[in-house]
Amino acid sequence: MTAVAIDGPAGAGKSSVARKTAEKLGFLYVDTGALYRAIGLYMLQNGVDPGDADTVIPLLKKITVSLKYCGGEQRVFLCGNDVSDKIRTDDVSLAASRVSAIPEVRSFLLSLQRDIAKENNVLMDGRDIGTVVLPDAQVKVFLTASTEERAKRRYFQLLHSGIKADYDEVLEDLKQRDYNDTHRAIAPLKPAPDAVVMDTTGQTLEQSVELLIRLIQEKTSANIT
Ligand code: C5P
Repeated sequence: MTAVAIDGPAGAGKSSVARKTAEKLGFLYVDTGALYRAIGLYMLQNGVDPGDADTVIPLLKKITVSLKYCGGEQRVFLCGNDVSDKIRTDDVSLAASRVSAIPEVRSFLLSLQRDIAKENNVLMDGRDIGTVVLPDAQVKVFLTASTEERAKRRYFQLLHSGIKADYDEVLEDLKQRDYNDTHRAIAPLKPAPDAVVMDTTGQTLEQSVELLIRLIQEKTSANIT
């Protein structure tokens, strides 16, 4: 099996680039952020502070999280319910970022992620895929872009989905998530020593996809389908 690990900060274009590249290569695209989001959503739905480890940890026993693929599209299930659409709000983004700092939450999701990569050729995106989840991945990429560019992309993405947004708030949320993700004690966001850093500032989606495919081809014998 071939594994491509794509890590990087929020809004760097990981999911768009990874999804499109996976489609071209015939790989499974695994968005691991959806798993942390599902747990964040569970805490919000149950009135629990997502950063309160003492309350969050015992609740993990009550939670089941799974991924299913419908026509190549990933859907995430929380306790049997498809929550793929509900997990995309800004509240859930921040809740995900907070639960993800709890070591027990990370280990709870580890085997699920590894099992998928055992059985499929994957392009897996997250924060710790190259460093922790799949340290033996054949290709490791750290995808990034300037903070302002990432905030701009997120802002327009929200507008296009019909969600009213304030650019300054989007920028502040992003900075807060960057801070949480890079400063947590466990699996902090950082490039694996053997990762190729790709800065997508000023690049179109197509240009980033093309660069990534070239890199994957260089490092593996993957054929484009
Ligand atoms: O990628 P996405 O923005 O959906 O991730 C939501 C949050 O989940 C991130 O801000 C990060 O805190 C957490 N996460 C993580 N490890 C991953 C994927 C996501 O800690 N592999």
